[in-house]
Amino acid sequence: MFKQCLAAVALVGISQSVLAVEEVNLYSARKEALIKPLLDRFTKQTGITVNLITGKADALLKRMQIEGKNSPADLLITTDAGRLHRAKAAGLTTAIQSESLDKLVPAAYRDSEKHWYGLSLRARPIVYVKSKVDPKTLSTYSALAAPEWKGRICIRSSNNIYNQSLVASMIGHNGVDVTESWAKSFVKNFARPPKGGDRDQVKAAAAGMCDIAIVNTYYLAAMLESKNSKEQMAAKKVAVFWPDQNGHGTHVNVSGAAIMKAAKHKANATKLIEFLASADSQAWYAESNGEYPIRDGIAISDTLKSWGAFKKDNLPLDLLGKYNPEAVRLMDRAGWR
Ligand code: FE
Repeated sequence: MFKQCLAAVALVGISQSVLAVEEVNLYSARKEALIKPLLDRFTKQTGITVNLITGKADALLKRMQIEGKNSPADLLITTDAGRLHRAKAAGLTTAIQSESLDKLVPAAYRDSEKHWYGLSLRARPIVYVKSKVDPKTLSTYSALAAPEWKGRICIRSSNNIYNQSLVASMIGHNGVDVTESWAKSFVKNFARPPKGGDRDQVKAAAAGMCDIAIVNTYYLAAMLESKNSKEQMAAKKVAVFWPDQNGHGTHVNVSGAAIMKAAKHKANATKLIEFLASADSQAWYAESNGEYPIRDGIAISDTLKSWGAFKKDNLPLDLLGKYNPEAVRLMDRAGWR
């Protein structure tokens, strides 16, 4: 009887390990629609279930801090390097061990201590109203501080991380003093007090409120493909200008992933990041999200192709996080609301 029981226990043990669900818990600041199709593909390929929790990046960070060691989160995906840096600085992340990620993701687009890896590139160029601006008059971000642009620039507020990262990149290249005097003049050229998101800047430009704006290209791509004809028409009135092509290159940021120190499924989390960096996933980003692949040699959509190739700033993106507090203070001193 005792022997039979033991056998039964052993059998239960085996069947449980066979049936054990392989899973990984993902906290994502990416909208569900912009990542779920990839996660489904990952599950199909690997059998690993992805439990997805989406939210705003800062809320997710706070949640992980409160959950502490008991946090179910295995990995975090955010849409800018600044917040990946914040997660690392808060002690939430751990180094990722993956030779394939080291090969796939260029050094500038990952953390120098491997705490996060970029997964897609987000470019933040100048867009200009075609009927009003000769692109020959455009050159660099720095040149937008010149008096000729007075009252002609639309841009969102300084509490937006994309602008903070842009300013942080300028601090990285030019230092605080030069960037601050630039910001003071740049702010004077605003057509209106900053308001709305990137799409709103394009709409304001199209409506005649300003001649140029600074926006992430995926918003423009989405507007061009929008079913809302007003949005589409607004987007058609502007064109992309890649600034700083003779210098450091156009400012880029990343969406990227970090693995949590308290993760219980680190191997599965690593597999998921490797999957998101694979050629198929990278092509999907470029086709569906209007973002740029993190690496060369990946096909991009016709919309992205229409804007042409451009030189990307290769300032190590962990510096965007490092200089973020300084950028925020500097923008405040410059009166950038
Ligand atoms: Fe965005």
